[in-house]
Amino acid sequence: MTMEINLKVIKAQPHHNFWVEQIGEIDTKVKAVDCAICATGLVTVSNLKNRKCKPIFSRSICPQCGFLTLSRGPSDIWMRDYYDNRWDEKRPDLANQHDQLSNQFPLQYLKRVEGGKPEKEQNILDVGAGYGMAIRAFIKDGYKNIFAIEHSIKRASHIRKTFDIPAEHCSLEDFLSSATFAKSGRFDYIYLWHVFEHMTDVKTNLGILYDLLADDGHIFIAVPNFHRESFIRLSHSPVHQHAFSANNLFLFVQDAGFKVKIVDQGYNTGGLILVGQKKQICVDSDCAPLRFTQQEIARKILRDLDLDSGYNPWKANEPFLLKLFDARPTNACILKTQFRGGGFGHLMHLLERLSRNHMKLPDFSMMVEFDEFNPKVRDYIYDYTCTKLIPENCQLPVVNFIYADGRVPIWLK
Ligand SMILES: [Zn+2]
Repeated sequence: MTMEINLKVIKAQPHHNFWVEQIGEIDTKVKAVDCAICATGLVTVSNLKNRKCKPIFSRSICPQCGFLTLSRGPSDIWMRDYYDNRWDEKRPDLANQHDQLSNQFPLQYLKRVEGGKPEKEQNILDVGAGYGMAIRAFIKDGYKNIFAIEHSIKRASHIRKTFDIPAEHCSLEDFLSSATFAKSGRFDYIYLWHVFEHMTDVKTNLGILYDLLADDGHIFIAVPNFHRESFIRLSHSPVHQHAFSANNLFLFVQDAGFKVKIVDQGYNTGGLILVGQKKQICVDSDCAPLRFTQQEIARKILRDLDLDSGYNPWKANEPFLLKLFDARPTNACILKTQFRGGGFGHLMHLLERLSRNHMKLPDFSMMVEFDEFNPKVRDYIYDYTCTKLIPENCQLPVVNFIYADGRVPIWLK
């Protein structure tokens, strides 16, 4: 029997970095039924439901390989319009801010796979270039042949103006037939900085990226790490279509014909970074996928929910806080509770750790109440969050966030 956790959300105040948009049943659709990696049937782990208890937005996970994806959500047309017109509409300063910044990661990793002998003539493609923070690093280092793809007209023209390089406003698929590609030819290095998790059909897109690369060319993919993304945030936000662990990102890239050369998942990389090399024949990767179990996923979901009481807002408990040192906290109540509990040392440690890793303290809170108080649910959560003994047959819970309206809030970033 699957455990269902029904949470009636009575007040949700999002983080200032999120803009809430209301969305209803007719605006969303089923997006995935089977796992895109191994074709196993997906299992639902969260639903946003309206007052009629109709799911509007769902996240599902593959019980075989742990791939978490958006199984019901806004259509691709809705998402395209969002990235094109609304993603930065309420942030007029963003272009100026990004003009002061330079993202060194794609350049640094190119130097690593080149073995310290950079060739400045290499053909480089930035997919989803934004305002060009990573392009800036390449240009400063003397690279000349840089090309960009951008989803919005505004950002594409900003790149052309700022760097005087070709920037296409198109999808990855349309880029194959673009004038820019006809001129550039295939690429030696393609990078995607926190873009891959926004793409609906990652398998098809990886195939296109493979075709765009020259033989032995490298692909660089940076995405958030599933184990550090808040489950509550993932359940409410459609922008990250998928949540990758090192394991399933590895499998995706290897299945597309790449030799995986680097997988990094440290704090200092801001998430997961993978570098693969295009190979014509199947070759062993330089590293192995990092597997994790369904029990670990269940534990992560329950820890992120952090419900240790039937009635209260999200509350913290000691074991959860200790685990927080390896994950972003889910809300501000955690800090407050910890402080009240007398654990001042822990609080200071946490703040220090957060600032060292350039994380911002989240300030959203969410009042929830159980639809019907069920001591079994509480015990289930308690057992999996507060004990170290996780049974091997531990099942994934289905978490239902139930809102009082016909339309429910989704969070956009
Ligand atoms: Zn799978």
